Amino acid sequence: MLKLDDIVTHYGNIQALKGISIEVKQGEIVTIIGANGAGKTTTLKTICGLISPTSGKVYFQNKDITGKATSDIVEAGIAMVPEGRRVFPRMTVLENLQLGAYLNKNRQEVKNYLEEVFTLFPILKNRKKQIAGTLSGGEQQMLAIGRALMAKPKLLLLDEPSMGLAPKIVANIFDIITEINKEGTTILLVEQNARMALSIANKGFVIETGKIVLQDTAENLLKNEEVKKAYLGE
Ligand code: ATP
Repeated sequence: MLKLDDIVTHYGNIQALKGISIEVKQGEIVTIIGANGAGKTTTLKTICGLISPTSGKVYFQNKDITGKATSDIVEAGIAMVPEGRRVFPRMTVLENLQLGAYLNKNRQEVKNYLEEVFTLFPILKNRKKQIAGTLSGGEQQMLAIGRALMAKPKLLLLDEPSMGLAPKIVANIFDIITEINKEGTTILLVEQNARMALSIANKGFVIETGKIVLQDTAENLLKNEEVKKAYLGE
């Protein structure tokens, strides 16, 4: 479904990605784990057109989407939940969700998607008139995920959904990610919390200073001695 072929991405003179190749198949949950600054966010930004790679290609459903405008990429079926949630703090929950569907002119469809999001996150329904900036961190993460789902993506990119949240809330969010996947959305999840990410993923990639250094099934990565030492705190 998604293929990155030897992606190199720069910020000015800094080479943040040094030839990343990954593949995500339809229906999978795939995770990219790695330390702070390894290039996880840059990988997601390159996929969704927020940064153009210097070289390499991004294919989505066998089409070359390298360097296309983000709005075209969203329309093709990719939505991203950014790091740090980035909800619009002064807007209501409902307004935030509606913005996620801004490309969709079919009002009935938008209404249906909204109901689907409310089924997944009943708390957002209860708080639809609340100003987003006053939600708790976990609720804002739910809103950020809900907003991305309003675009009805085929592939959902999640950038560190566990960041800054209590373990119980992280577990709740990860249950919901699994549920979203079961309902048919393919997931690419970037995480520093390797244990949580690998516990729900089918396969994983380990990224270090802009390069993939290891890839395997999530099950094998959880058993891998180097992964245990470097990323699982064992
Ligand atoms: P984090 O978990 O901190 O987001 P990450 O794995 O997502 O880490 P990236 O944010 O992709 O890492 O950063 C990869 C490299 O690119 C780092 O060396 C970082 O300092 C650099 N970098 C990221 N954004 C910029 C930018 N806007 N300008 C210059 N360098 C950047």
